[in-house]
Amino acid sequence: MMLYLHIPFCVQKCLYCDFCSLPGQGAETLAAYAAALCRELELRSCREEITSVFLGGGTPSLLPEEALASIFEAIGRNYSLSADCEISLEANPGTLRREFLRTARAAGVNRLSIGVQALQDRLLRSIGRIHSAAQAKQALDLAREAGFENLSVDLMYALPGQSEADLLESVDFVLAEGLPHVSLYALTVEPRTPFGRLQREGKLSLPDEETELAMQGAAMARLAEGGLRRYEVSNFARPGLECRHNLGYWQRAPYLGLGLAAHGFDGQTRYANTTDLSLYLTALSRGELPPGERQALAPGEAEEEELLLGLRMVRGVELAPARLAALAPRLDPLLRAGFLTLQGRRLALTEKGFPVMNALLVRLL
Ligand code: SF4
Repeated sequence: MMLYLHIPFCVQKCLYCDFCSLPGQGAETLAAYAAALCRELELRSCREEITSVFLGGGTPSLLPEEALASIFEAIGRNYSLSADCEISLEANPGTLRREFLRTARAAGVNRLSIGVQALQDRLLRSIGRIHSAAQAKQALDLAREAGFENLSVDLMYALPGQSEADLLESVDFVLAEGLPHVSLYALTVEPRTPFGRLQREGKLSLPDEETELAMQGAAMARLAEGGLRRYEVSNFARPGLECRHNLGYWQRAPYLGLGLAAHGFDGQTRYANTTDLSLYLTALSRGELPPGERQALAPGEAEEEELLLGLRMVRGVELAPARLAALAPRLDPLLRAGFLTLQGRRLALTEKGFPVMNALLVRLL
């Protein structure tokens, strides 16, 4: 079993962000939220061993140290963690503090994922990030000083005004720092964001698809030269340092999601907590689980998810013989065209298939 805890607070909203995160909340709200999360940890406690914990957001590094410590105490009281449990925390370079990192380390966090995005101040400003490139570099120094070695950074490409040289400069920095893990994401413009509005008004100038693919290819080649192997469509790692928690999602492992708007999955049913902060806090202050939705997978949905999630991984997905037989008419032309490979019962995308993954999935499902 895995645990995901959502910390839905940010200093300000990035211009592209449509995650559930609330900007500008005060210390009182953060403390009340941490207390509610501790209560939810208690209410959802289970006997199964926890193999990974992930604090994501939002901005978990915005939490006061006492709040972070109390959350880990609640995890310790209510769950049994495996000896080699991976415990990740997402951090924004604009909020990282020495004391916070010390508290996180002491609480057992052993993997830090830092939202660097780019190393050019003009690009960081243009997407609404709260930090500078210098702060991103300093965040890595602070993390190492606190004893973190298993570090990951997020980088973005296809940003307005970003050149391939800008992207490679960021990738080279990551490689020069010897980081073991990188997540590389293309900017996606979501309709309900400031970037979505600017795009509708024709005021957002983005690289075309061909340029975007060229940027991705150049960055991937550079990462491979530096020893970071792609293991998922957007993730690269030194062998053995892949994110186990995220691998669990792609392999459809069960997990408990806690916090505002968090999702969970028990193998058959998916649930989602409310996205309304006051409903969330009120329910937990009464000792009740937060309201939300619960949905059993419809017939065929598990098989669909197996492909959608499994093919994201370079290792692909092992399919049952009956499933392979049912897929054969749609699969064969894609295998012949070199978009997919099939070894035994393991189906995987090829290098040619990854850039057109979404189109291939439409043809397969
Ligand atoms: S820091 Fe992350 S979660 Fe917060 S607004 Fe920016 S992209 Fe969204």
